[in-house]
Amino acid sequence: MYDSGLKARILLSTLHEKPFWKRKPLNDITEAEWESLCSRCGICCFQRITDLKTGEPHYTSIRCRHLNAATLQCDAYHNRFDANHGCEKVTRENIRQLKQLPDGCGYRTIAEGRDLKWWHPLISGDPDTVHQAGISFLDKEIISEDDIIAGDLMKYLIVNLSKYFFTNVKKERGN
Ligand code: SF4
Ligand code: SF4
Repeated sequence: MYDSGLKARILLSTLHEKPFWKRKPLNDITEAEWESLCSRCGICCFQRITDLKTGEPHYTSIRCRHLNAATLQCDAYHNRFDANHGCEKVTRENIRQLKQLPDGCGYRTIAEGRDLKWWHPLISGDPDTVHQAGISFLDKEIISEDDIIAGDLMKYLIVNLSKYFFTNVKKERGN
């Protein structure tokens, strides 16, 4: 969960020095700092279909049954690996192998040496900006994996996730 104490420390530290993700190598980032890199967009909790020719994963608008449709937060967070055996923990060790994470994922962004965007809660100080910017499935048409009819999977395929989420990103809060 998002740690308000950590947020305050980050805001204070930015007055004096670069934030931790700019000055620390991945291995020196603390567990709490690492957790705070997740923007809570929830995109990785949607099912993927792997292209059999290229091996490339494509997202769908089918949510994990444990993802709350209203908040896009996991209702089983503290028990998630038992609740869903396909649920994978993102770590400093495996981040570079997890090619399925979206471009805007905070973990992926930092691991690739890019900077966080304005809508990331660590920049904005507001956990809702990820939704306000349109970088989540909030207010988009989604369906639970429990409600899918066998054979209908392709109906929910998102051909180009970057285009779906990231081409019309609002420039700043309120725009
Ligand atoms: S169980 Fe895992 S995949 Fe499902 S909503 Fe929770 S964190 Fe996401
Ligand atoms: S895609 Fe990345 S930033 Fe978004 S919820 Fe998953 S781990 Fe967190």
